[in-house]
Amino acid sequence: MPKILNDEDVIVKVEYSGGEFPARKDRPLPLGHEFSGIVHEVGNKSIFKKGQKVVVDPNRACNLCNFCRGGNYQYCLRAGINSTIGIWNDGGWAQ
Ligand SMILES: [Zn+2]
Repeated sequence: MPKILNDEDVIVKVEYSGGEFPARKDRPLPLGHEFSGIVHEVGNKSIFKKGQKVVVDPNRACNLCNFCRGGNYQYCLRAGINSTIGIWNDGGWAQ
């Protein structure tokens, strides 16, 4: 079971995860870049509440670069599509 490490962390109990073909053949990992669930645990500064239904955005963003500021965080050079959950990191099926 994952643990809260940072005040803004959220742990989601996955209720639904889409299926897809593996994007990477060099490092198999749990799939599921589209998933939703129920908030199970939150950090002290999280804007989410336990029991809340959520849909997870699989892309990460720095929220500082021009792409992020323009709402195109999928192109973020520090995160973006190169950090997508279920493609580059364990996906919704990891639960
Ligand atoms: Zn960015």
